[in-house]
Amino acid sequence: MEHQILAARWVFPIEGPPLERAVVEIEDSRIAAVYQGTHPQAVDLGNTALIPGLVNAHTHLEFSQLEAPLGPTRPFTEWIRSIMQSRFNCSIPASQRIQQGIEESLTSGTTCLGEIATSSESLQLLSADDRKPSAVVFRECLGFTPDRIQDQQQIAAEYLQLGTDLELGDAVGLGLSPHAPYSVNPDLYLNLVQQARDQGVPTAVHLAETEDELEFLSQKSGPFVDLLSELGLWDPQILRDGMRLYDYLVPLAELTSALAVHGNYFGDAEMEFLKQAPQISVVYCPRTHHYFGHRPHPWYRLISQGINVALGTDSRASNPDLSLWKELQFLRDTFPEVSTGLILECGTLAGARALELSDELGSLAVGKRADLALIQLPEYSAPDSGSDLLLDSRAYVSRVMLNGVWIN
Ligand SMILES: [Zn+2]
Repeated sequence: MEHQILAARWVFPIEGPPLERAVVEIEDSRIAAVYQGTHPQAVDLGNTALIPGLVNAHTHLEFSQLEAPLGPTRPFTEWIRSIMQSRFNCSIPASQRIQQGIEESLTSGTTCLGEIATSSESLQLLSADDRKPSAVVFRECLGFTPDRIQDQQQIAAEYLQLGTDLELGDAVGLGLSPHAPYSVNPDLYLNLVQQARDQGVPTAVHLAETEDELEFLSQKSGPFVDLLSELGLWDPQILRDGMRLYDYLVPLAELTSALAVHGNYFGDAEMEFLKQAPQISVVYCPRTHHYFGHRPHPWYRLISQGINVALGTDSRASNPDLSLWKELQFLRDTFPEVSTGLILECGTLAGARALELSDELGSLAVGKRADLALIQLPEYSAPDSGSDLLLDSRAYVSRVMLNGVWIN
């Protein structure tokens, strides 16, 4: 049995305050002890902080080859057109793009992913060996017209079966992702949520991302109608009257876990509903939100009301990289009034809760998987607190441990 004893200037257990000059002991692949103090056999990691591996609760690894985010961003449907074009023109095999995203995620400190996949390749790559992040891989389903319902449900069913056939270890889970209200027929949406419920798997949906989406649902007009018309898919009968944003949230509460991705424009009715639906987490993608120039995100208000808010990068189509660490630093700079501890919890334990993995990861608690990120702290002479130092713009992820093994 391998026993490792690591000493760092700061340790952030998440469930509990940061510990100065502290030790993390690891037995094989699990955390065995976390305490303030020293140990004669400890490996001294110097001016660093140990934190749990980061949880990126929302990404699409298939766009990881993009060197810069796509544009234009307004209206949002122009960006959708760009993404359709980019997918059509791309000649790099999906497996290569996804692998690139996995590696980028790991080196930037992410040890767990909520991945949206349009094929089974993410699932196969992420379950290939144990030097990969843990993940829940959500199969994306799309189809606005009624003739797509059956084949999309079939795709979802085959995907869930594939998970059984592959005998996934406990590090990779399956989920379904009806893409968004403007791209998924309401009946298909409800059927997919039902399918997820029957199979006991989580669901991720892009919801309340733009004001155009709200207009589309409430008035059946705006840029999404134009886009669907251009694609020959628009029929006003498809959108049921009375199927508003709120009505997309309600069925998610029947699942053991659901991710409402973005939620940029959740209003009072949705927030009231979320307060009594703890199964639903909101995933805020800070830099993507900023890239599109949305109104301020209600993330802090949601948290204040007891709603679980996880963080995501979304894809490289709307973000310059896949670093969740940089999302945390962005939040630090943008919201100086919010504590480092809360920001760090959003990027670790809240993500683990959203993906139903908080028994296994997301904090430095005894018995949890030894998935860690080592943060190199800036050289200050003053004895600053760990919370002041951790998300400083000069602090960076220097090493990553997966299952008790340093991978870099
Ligand atoms: Zn997304």
